[in-house]
Amino acid sequence: MASPSAGPAELGFVEAVPSWRLRSEQFPSKVGGRPAWLSAAGLPGPPELACPLCGRPMAFLLQVYAPLPGRADAFHRCLFLFCCRTPPCCCGLRVFRNQLPRGNDFYSYEPPSEDPPSETGESVQLQLKSGAHLCRVCGCSGPKRCSRCHKAHYCSKEHQSLDWRLGHKQACAQTDNLDSTVPDHNFLFPEFEIVIETEDEIMPEAVERDDESEIIGTMGEAHEEELESMAKHESREDRIFQKFKTKISPEPEQILRYGRGIAPLWISGEKIPQEKDIPDCPCGAKRLFEFQVMPQLLNYLKVDRLGRSVDWGVLAIFTCAESCKLGIGYTEEFVWKQDITDAA
Ligand SMILES: [Zn+2]
Ligand SMILES: [Zn+2]
Ligand SMILES: [Zn+2]
Ligand SMILES: [Zn+2]
Repeated sequence: MASPSAGPAELGFVEAVPSWRLRSEQFPSKVGGRPAWLSAAGLPGPPELACPLCGRPMAFLLQVYAPLPGRADAFHRCLFLFCCRTPPCCCGLRVFRNQLPRGNDFYSYEPPSEDPPSETGESVQLQLKSGAHLCRVCGCSGPKRCSRCHKAHYCSKEHQSLDWRLGHKQACAQTDNLDSTVPDHNFLFPEFEIVIETEDEIMPEAVERDDESEIIGTMGEAHEEELESMAKHESREDRIFQKFKTKISPEPEQILRYGRGIAPLWISGEKIPQEKDIPDCPCGAKRLFEFQVMPQLLNYLKVDRLGRSVDWGVLAIFTCAESCKLGIGYTEEFVWKQDITDAA
């Protein structure tokens, strides 16, 4: 997708597609399932993919393929977002960036084929071209392995015991056919492609009008100041939420808004980050807004809306303005979470 420095957002929508379209060599943007890793080397390891709050392994939420035109070292570029889905936490978030030149060790110089691959079967990829093993449960780097069969790999004890309970206990004693028999561990999110469309810029900014003049003038002196400040707060909160609703109303199914350097669309007046809240990249460059995940995505994730579960208003992703190359592999970027406020 193109990356203008300003201008209309590109909108992402979920779409069900055959699974081969979501493999790494197709350079997909996608939600759920296992990550379609870009570089097969330098994957974030279990410590990087542990929830910063509860320490449990996070689940892959989505990835956005976002190359930078004119940057030979970012001919391929992808952002990977992970979240904690383990109750009662369900709060941790981390995002990683990876980029590759057109000529690299993992992919053809030519664009991928539009045709389905000739080999059949939907077997889960458990090892990358680099030789790196992937966890059978989450599809992330799996440096630990089953000490009995030495064939099953895991990111953590937690995922090993989950797989053990869900069938590896039996499979471990049997022979070779392990790779094709990954059970549903009920850990991954449902998998979809993210398709991108450019947003039409037709919405007037009418909702930006000032409605603070609506403050009631007939109240007694004593409470006037207090009421005024309440009304101001409510109307600001209201305006921001109205703007959010108006902006998305032509395309209410959008799950993602992409635009490197554009302004994020906040859902609430609370927890809007200041510049100082967005840490610079370790390379020294500022971080720019690049995309945001919308609350609509929650409808596709089959998460429990009643119990404690994954939830957000807006997830805004900020990435290095230089899209620097800090060594090989995957570089951590920054996520800002805004919740939906109940106050409005
Ligand atoms: Zn957590
Ligand atoms: Zn795992
Ligand atoms: Zn085993
Ligand atoms: Zn940087």
